[in-house]
Amino acid sequence: MQDEDRNYFRLTEAADIVARLIRDVEDFKLLAAVVIEVVASRKPMRASNRAQLAKGGKVPRFAREVYCDQDDDPPDFTVTVNLEEWANLSDSQKVALMDHALGHFGYESEDGSTWIKGHDIEEFLGTMQRRGLWSESVRQASEVLQPHLPGTAPEAAPPKAKHGGVKVGKQTPAEAASPKPTKMKAPTEKEAKAAFAAG
Ligand SMILES: [Zn+2]
Repeated sequence: MQDEDRNYFRLTEAADIVARLIRDVEDFKLLAAVVIEVVASRKPMRASNRAQLAKGGKVPRFAREVYCDQDDDPPDFTVTVNLEEWANLSDSQKVALMDHALGHFGYESEDGSTWIKGHDIEEFLGTMQRRGLWSESVRQASEVLQPHLPGTAPEAAPPKAKHGGVKVGKQTPAEAASPKPTKMKAPTEKEAKAAFAAG
C-alpha cells in the first residue's frame, strides 16, 4: 500500500515531541517504560460535534499479543492526531497537545499496569461564566492559569533537556517521511474547538 493511500501513518514530528516530553517533564518520566505509538489520521476526527485535535487510547492486552509480531514491541498506548488540525497548530500548541495526550496515560511501575486517566477538570464555559469558582477543580484551574494570563508573568521557560530515552514505536524511513499536505479548511475558533478524547 502506498503511503498516500493510508488513512493512518506514523507521525514522526509528534512522536519526537512525545519522546522529548517523557525525557524532560518530571510527571512523564515513568512513561519511558511504555511504548507509545503516535499516528496521524487523514480521516476527519470529530467529537462532541467539534473537530477533535487528537485522541488517545490504551491498546488492549489481547491486541498486543495477537496482532503484533513476536519480536516487535507492541504499543501500550496510542495517540491519534487529526492531521488536518495538526497542520494548523503552532509549535507550542503541538507540544501542548502532546503534553495533554501524555497526561491521559497512567502507568504503575510495580506491576506494569497501564490505564487511561480522566481530566482534572470537566466544566462548561457557561457554568464558569455564571457561577465562577464554584467547585474545587474550577478553583484549582483558576490558580494554575493565573500566571499564564496576559500581563501577569513571562511565559514559563521550557524544561531543560536531560539524557534518557523512550521507545516510541519503530519506523521505516518511508513511514517517517512527511505526508503530502491535505487541503485545509480555514481554521475557525481553533482554541474553542480543541478537543482530546481518551478511550
Ligand atoms: Zn483529554
